[in-house]
Parts: sequence; structure tokens; C-alpha cells
Amino acid sequence: MSYNKKTVKDVDVKGKKVLLRCDFNVPQDKQTGEITDDKRIVAALPTIQYLLGQNAAVIACSHLGKPKEGPDPKFSLAPVAKRLGELLGQEVIMAADVVGPDAMAKAAALQPGQIMLLENTRFEKGETKNDPELARKMASMAQVYVSDAFGSVHRAHASTAGVADYLPAVSGFLIAKELEVMGGALANPKRPLVAILGGAKVSSKIGVINNLLDIADTIIVGGGMAYTFVKAMGGTVGTSLLEADWLDYCKEMMAKAKEKNVRLLLPVDTLCAAEFSADAKPELVDTMHIPDDRMGMDIGPKTIALFSDAVKDAGTVIWNGPMGVFEFPAFAEGTRAIARALAQTDAITIVGGGDSAAAVAQLGFADQMTYISTGGGASLYLLEGKALPGVACLLDK
Ligand code: AMP
Repeated sequence: MSYNKKTVKDVDVKGKKVLLRCDFNVPQDKQTGEITDDKRIVAALPTIQYLLGQNAAVIACSHLGKPKEGPDPKFSLAPVAKRLGELLGQEVIMAADVVGPDAMAKAAALQPGQIMLLENTRFEKGETKNDPELARKMASMAQVYVSDAFGSVHRAHASTAGVADYLPAVSGFLIAKELEVMGGALANPKRPLVAILGGAKVSSKIGVINNLLDIADTIIVGGGMAYTFVKAMGGTVGTSLLEADWLDYCKEMMAKAKEKNVRLLLPVDTLCAAEFSADAKPELVDTMHIPDDRMGMDIGPKTIALFSDAVKDAGTVIWNGPMGVFEFPAFAEGTRAIARALAQTDAITIVGGGDSAAAVAQLGFADQMTYISTGGGASLYLLEGKALPGVACLLDK
């Protein structure tokens, strides 16, 4: 898949109507509906401000949550319009529907330099089905389509991909940056490329491991997913997370690493506990010999040294998934130490979205990484080498 896509700077948007797909899927207080974290709205500002600066008329759209039965005020984007208006210092005209009479009339009347927001795209059942009729109606409001919702590009929906059949389609600054950094690191990495994988399950990262074995020089496996590898090597893992159905797969991956000459590093020591609890007393054991009544919760000091050493001389490090149960302070050191190692290396350091991004932020290392991806699912798709429909539909440079 080509990551070399036209951006909003490669097309003329002056005075034009622009349909802009954003990721305004913000967390809200269940009772009051108040936005509890506006990071995603703030992240969309550079592209919006650029478009308004070009005197474009911006028709923004996004999904919010998962409304199942059509329009539902609980999932209205009205609070986002209000917050976006405060951040921009100008009115954001809120439409009452997505492609209904209100949206159509407001879009038709929209003037250069003005911005409006369509209602939640998932109020239309055709959105998740990528219905061409819905896509055509959305596209009919504008002359150019700009996609800046990286968190949604792995979905082929009407507003994330379908509209590109009807309009010249380019990326906004957020997607451009993701493609430049993540896409660049995968397509043409500064070597050695070290991938650090962690998190709970092997099964959720199968595609990632398989794809990275074709690209990386070193793969480090930590977190709960390491124990299925340990078991596959003949170790005992006690009550640790284990996916017995994936033992053969782990063996296959170890064989592939050997064949491809990729260094595969696994934990050598483990902090374990008698139960899955924040108060559990950490006990240090050899990873290959975890006692029957103990579960692995974090990597130990020898493993920290081994993994940190592998990061030191890397050209690029891609990290996805915590090294242990970092939510419990007693088992956060492994993840913290790896974050520190990334902060200290001269390598390009890229953190995949989701839990790893949360861990890096919670442990205070966010500003010391080269880049933190904004899309959990989408960045996993990239690491798996899968085509992203919301990127594939954009014009090539
Ligand atoms: P994922 O969403 O697959 O990246 O998994 C992230 C979750 O994995 C975090 O909530 C961690 O607490 C959890 N995790 C990491 N290591 C372990 C472990 N050794 N045992 C259980 N859970 C773990």
C-alpha cells in the first residue's frame, strides 16, 4: 500500500466547500454528557484552521460512539460543536442531521471562512455499510474531501472511504503525519529496526508479529503475550495468561525468526504474584520456571537490562503494548523502564496507539517520544501491513 498520499496542501481549497472527516469520537461523562477529554478536537485544529485560513467553507463530520438505532440525542455531536467553537473562537454551525434537509440547507448557505458540523455520521445506517447513496449525498455538499480521522481509516465506511468515489480526496495534517512517521518507519526504516510488542494477548497481535518478522531486525516480546511463547519453548508458566490454541503459532513464529535471521528476545526473569491484584506481593522468578500457583505480572530486572540494551543502538523503535500490568504500581516498572530506554535512545521512537500510548502518558514519558500514534486500531492495521481503506482511497502524490 502506498503511504505517499496528497495532502490538503497539494490541492486548491481556496473558497471551496470542503467535506472534512474528523475523529471527534470523544469521551463524555455518562450523566451530564460533558466532554471529559478534548484531545481529539484539539488535534483536529491545525487542519481546520488551515482550511479556514484558505477561506474554504468547512463541512466537518465524524462519528461519536456506537448509536445502533439511528438518531439518538445521547450521541449528538452538539457538545463537540460547542467545544470546537470555543477553541476556534468562531461559531460552529450545527446541523440537525447528516444528509437530511437541515444539513443540505446549511451546507448550501455556508460561506467561505465558515464552519459547520454534520450530526453523528452513524445516525445514518448506511454509514457503516459504506452505502454509495449516503456517500454520494455527503459528497454532493462539497467540492473536495479531506480525511483527517486516522482513528477511523481502518474502516471502510461512507464518510471514511465511500465519499472519495465522488470527490478529489486528500489527507489532513494528522493523517499525513501518521503516514510519514509510521508508514515511513515500516516502508523504509532507519535500521536497525527494533519492534517491542507487549500487552495481554498473542491472538490480538498475530498479524503484527508475522508482518514485523518480514521487516524488523529485532523483535522483543513482553507482557502477558510472552507466556504463550515461554510455554511453547517448554517453560512452565503457572497461572499466567496463556493462549493454548496459539502454542503452535508461537513455535512457527520462532522458526520464522530463525529463518529470517531476526533476533527474537523474550523475558528471562519475571515478577509474579499469587493473585491478579494491586496489593499482591511481587516475587522474582526465572521466566522458564514460574511456579504452578503464580502468575507473571511484569518483566524482571535482567529482562529490563536485556530489552533496554537492544534499544540503545537502534535506528528505529516501534513499541506496541505494555510489558506488564502497568496499571498496578507494583508491576509498572517493566513498562516504565522500557519507556525510559526509549526516551534515552537516539533512535526514532514510535509508540502505537491504545494502551501503550496510555502507559507512556501515565508514566510521564509522552513528550520524550518521537511520535505517538493517535489511532489504536488503525496503527495495528499499519503494523500488520494491511491496507487501510481510508488511506487507500486518497489520491497518490
Ligand atoms: P493490549 O490491549 O493487548 O495491548 O493489552 C494491554 C493490557 O495488557 C494492559 O491492560 C495490561 O495490564 C495487560 N497486561 C500486560 N502484561 C500482562 C500480564 N503479564 N498479565 C496480565 N495482563 C497483562
